[in-house]
Amino acid sequence: MGMAEQNTSETFGFQTEAKQLLQLMIHSLYSNREIFLRELISNASDAIDKLRFRAIAKPELVGADADFQITVDLDVKANTMTITDNGIGMTREEVIEQLGTIAKSGTAEFLDQLSGDEKKDASLIGQFGVGFYSAFIVAEEIEVLTCAAGETQGTRWVSRGEDEFSVDEAGELSRGTRVMLHLRKDAEEFTDGFRLRTILRKYSDHIGVPVRMLKQTTGSAATDDTPEETDDVPEYEVVNSAKALWTRSRSEIDDSEYREFYKHVSHDFEDPLSWSHNRVEGKLEYTSLVYIPKRAPFDLWNRDAPKGLKLYVRRVFIMDDAEQFLPLYLRFIKGVVDSGDLPLNVSREILQQDDRVTSIRNALTKRVLGMLDTMARKQPDDYQSFWDEFGEVLKEGAGEDFSNREALAKLLRFASTSENSNKKTVGLDDYLERMIEAQDKIYFLTAESYENASNSPHLEVFKERGIEVLVLFDRIDEWLMGSLTEYGGKGFQDVMRGDLELPGEDDEKDTDEDKNKEEAESKTDEESSALTDRIKAVLENRVEGVRPSKRLTNSPACLALGDFAMGIQMRKIMEASGQSLPESKAHFEYNPNHPLLQKLDEESDEKRFEDLVLVLFDQATLAEGAPLADAAGYVNRLNSLLLELLSD
Ligand code: ADP
Ligand code: MG
Repeated sequence: MGMAEQNTSETFGFQTEAKQLLQLMIHSLYSNREIFLRELISNASDAIDKLRFRAIAKPELVGADADFQITVDLDVKANTMTITDNGIGMTREEVIEQLGTIAKSGTAEFLDQLSGDEKKDASLIGQFGVGFYSAFIVAEEIEVLTCAAGETQGTRWVSRGEDEFSVDEAGELSRGTRVMLHLRKDAEEFTDGFRLRTILRKYSDHIGVPVRMLKQTTGSAATDDTPEETDDVPEYEVVNSAKALWTRSRSEIDDSEYREFYKHVSHDFEDPLSWSHNRVEGKLEYTSLVYIPKRAPFDLWNRDAPKGLKLYVRRVFIMDDAEQFLPLYLRFIKGVVDSGDLPLNVSREILQQDDRVTSIRNALTKRVLGMLDTMARKQPDDYQSFWDEFGEVLKEGAGEDFSNREALAKLLRFASTSENSNKKTVGLDDYLERMIEAQDKIYFLTAESYENASNSPHLEVFKERGIEVLVLFDRIDEWLMGSLTEYGGKGFQDVMRGDLELPGEDDEKDTDEDKNKEEAESKTDEESSALTDRIKAVLENRVEGVRPSKRLTNSPACLALGDFAMGIQMRKIMEASGQSLPESKAHFEYNPNHPLLQKLDEESDEKRFEDLVLVLFDQATLAEGAPLADAAGYVNRLNSLLLELLSD
């Protein structure tokens, strides 16, 4: 896309997505525009972290300029602010790549989600991470001068944030990056040194790099309460505490600092929901600071999305997105782990096999589950909002992490017939508490949607007897329930499967009354066995078996799956992925007390009997949300029955 103007200067159009994001950001974030400082300081600090890391193997990259720092200069007259770091810098190619495009995968999808409603968009943009471009909220022009570590020739990048940016050679420069903002008229407030100090402190107190400003010559508000950090250039002073947050002790850190640090590590714009900061000593030494975000990132379901913690070894930054410290189902957790034991030259491959890493991972997993459990008990509203965002991811864990199965099961939340809503608010402990007398199973139903499930004929008898049924309709649910076997000593029972046994059915046999009842029942069984055989003759090839139902009170018939048959949800997923599955047959259950069935029993016209049975079978199939094998046949039969009805 580049268009050469001279030998060295080139003008580039912004990538479409970058342009769109820029415009949106300027509008949506205007009321909170000071955050551009957080982003620029955060980038400068990342650049220094990256250089420190590279210098472990190549100390000459740092050379004599080993005093890592970030400097903020103001020129009130010119209305400019300049943020300088002596970090890793960028090459010409990197400048074009990093400051001209948005490299994140899923950017286009993200932009599609934006609504035009500024408030909503602002928080979405926050989730996406605003980064460098946020400086255009306050700057009408930005000039970046940068020189990569190990090189001497620098690059200049200039843009007004509209359509294009230009890049040219900047001659000899010292290592690092200098970002000069030509502030907009209405952003003059940021050239007020005292105000700027306050904002800087807020956004940089938690990073491990000193941030300097020129000593204020008038007034006295400029104080520096961290005497341990001094500077060798006399007229500058350090304005932040310059101590990495997680290295400080918990009692010294207030909540607002934890929140700011979260925004720095996560690139999130919103506050976190919760966090946990711990130093572990003994056989293994490490510090962890983990955060639970408020909202799921837009790329939570993207396999390639970065995930994991920021890894430090003895306070030296090693890598972003260290995935090995948490299981995949906790991929939404953000934060830092600082190990005292790992070698500085640790690689991703080493992390994968290292026993120390495995131990930290096990401990961190328990810690996060503990945080969630505490939240569920003490801040149920927070927990509910967590579940709404991340519940489906946590279900992956409940299905695969055997060592934490009980803790994970406790955290699950489902929709349920007791709540009469599609909100997933019911925990298994709630369920156990509400079980009726003699109930020893946790009943559940999986379906494609809540609406589909809530009208299922399978729920009729449960509604009548006041037995709660969990209603599951996430794609992952059938898989999940396949691996959950029991909770609190109670087994799980799919209400669509098998020959249903309801509470109280076995152990009432002794009383006389029940004996009579039983006799009565077996009589109806016998009576209906003739009907069963007639129906069986019609449905022979279509079903596994035919039986009178214990499930139904209102509907004439339903289908029940075999104990080990694949459910409809799973079947659809497998078929969608192109697998051909063997046909699975269900049991046809009919309601002998339903007037339709009673009439059917009296039907002597065999052809008519057959049509009616087939219609009932197709209707039961439809009620499961499954497609009909022969939809046209169904329509024909129904029409001829209707015609008979009308001509009677
Ligand atoms: P992010 O920090 O989330 O990657 P940004 O938009 O803030 O996104 O920055 C984009 C990229 O530009 C950074 O990833 C980095 O490669 C580069 N960059 C920005 N500022 C600097 C800097 N001061 N020094 C070196 N590289 C930088
Ligand atoms: Mg950034």
